[in-house]
Amino acid sequence: MNTNYNFWFVVGSQFLYGPEVLETVEERAKEMAHEMSKYLPFPLVYKVTAKTNKEITDIVKEANYDDTCAGIITWCHTFSPSKMWINGLASLQKPYCHLATQYNKEIPNEEIDMDFMNLNQAAHGDREHGFIAARLRMPRKVVAGYWQSEKVHKRLGDWMKACVGVAVSKNMKVMRFGDNMREVAVTEGDKVEVQTKLGWQVNTWAVGDLVKVMNEVTEAEIDALMAVYTDKYDIATDNTDAIRYQAREEIAMKKMLDAEGAMAFSNTFQDLYGMEQLPGLASQHLMAQGYGYGGEGDWKVAAMTAILKAMGENGNGASAFMEDYTYHLAEGQEYSLGAHMLEVCPSLAEGKPRIETHHLGIGMNEKDPARLVFEGKAGQAIVVSLIDMGGRLRLICQDIECVKPIMPMPNLPVARVMWKAMPDLATGVECWITAGGAHHTVLSYDVSAEQMRDWARMMDIEFVHITKDSTPEKLEEELFLKDLAWKLK
Ligand code: MN
Repeated sequence: MNTNYNFWFVVGSQFLYGPEVLETVEERAKEMAHEMSKYLPFPLVYKVTAKTNKEITDIVKEANYDDTCAGIITWCHTFSPSKMWINGLASLQKPYCHLATQYNKEIPNEEIDMDFMNLNQAAHGDREHGFIAARLRMPRKVVAGYWQSEKVHKRLGDWMKACVGVAVSKNMKVMRFGDNMREVAVTEGDKVEVQTKLGWQVNTWAVGDLVKVMNEVTEAEIDALMAVYTDKYDIATDNTDAIRYQAREEIAMKKMLDAEGAMAFSNTFQDLYGMEQLPGLASQHLMAQGYGYGGEGDWKVAAMTAILKAMGENGNGASAFMEDYTYHLAEGQEYSLGAHMLEVCPSLAEGKPRIETHHLGIGMNEKDPARLVFEGKAGQAIVVSLIDMGGRLRLICQDIECVKPIMPMPNLPVARVMWKAMPDLATGVECWITAGGAHHTVLSYDVSAEQMRDWARMMDIEFVHITKDSTPEKLEEELFLKDLAWKLK
């Protein structure tokens, strides 16, 4: 995972103020970029105090070309006439945030005079700047507030991480082992559309290719990975052969993913020719390392899992492939129970996961697959689903509150997470179903709904957010209007 991203600070001005003011602006902009970088997840690099159309166009060309530049942040210390920004902004291909701030925190009562006003006029400079981005229909983030405030740092930092999601998306390769589960609709999608919009390269590899690589894995390689498993997890089974088989699967899949530069993969229990076990522990431990996974050939959720992971803390946050399984409908205790037949990422775990082996009746398993079993953490989270509406993509995000599972479920042989959907289980489910959200989601404790909104805006796809204030009536209307708008777009 490339984490060497940086962001460029581009400050707008004009020649009118004279060299002295421009020097002050430049000095302060450098200081601000340097200071803010201490509190941001990625460096903010001061680039230019732009005064001409050419300076702006040149810096945008450079930003477009530089792979390490994940976005630009603009600000106008002084007034910067916006017609000089049109050519540059019209050719910008990187995420864009307008920081509306000013160098001084307070109006200095005694010192304020017209010189002060000429230098410190972000309040109207930022409005001129905002107009042109609105006029050009730029997909941009606006963050307003004092540049030294914690809140501004948090919002800029969150936006930066969403930009990393954009960069990762544009380089995303998904390796599909076999096709989608037969007859399932929601896991389908237009791969050409997805590549055009999101940049994903989604291609298939035969399960036989994987089996060939599995057969070449050495006992020494398996021993080394077994040592990692033993260190990270509690071994709660005597069936060492099953664990070693999962290690063989993990090593082979990782080799193929890395050889191709793929960060996500899917497989299906209906196509395991030549394999003894559906990868359980193998897929789970790959997800722990930042790879995205989708079951039943769900390549959309696989890529989204990798993207949300990359948007999280240190480029590999607590985000995981998840599936709504079953409800607890007792009044006052309404919860969803999420799990999967094996593959839930241990980044969600409360405590140390256990490796267990159990019979898995579904699919082509010849032998009992080893898997990690654990309970999910309590806390605020979101679930996210990307669906293909035919001609466009819709990203649905729902706020949820995860709880410690209210019962131990000792005979459930898989990892499990229990949550309360917003605004409440029944209304939340009605909204989710009305919007067409899938049974597969990415569950994240780490990425916020605001970040997903930012990401969707930057990718130019529809965003639907189900919150504590949602009602099916309002949502139905919103979806109807969005449907019309997206057809015209
Ligand atoms: Mn599934």
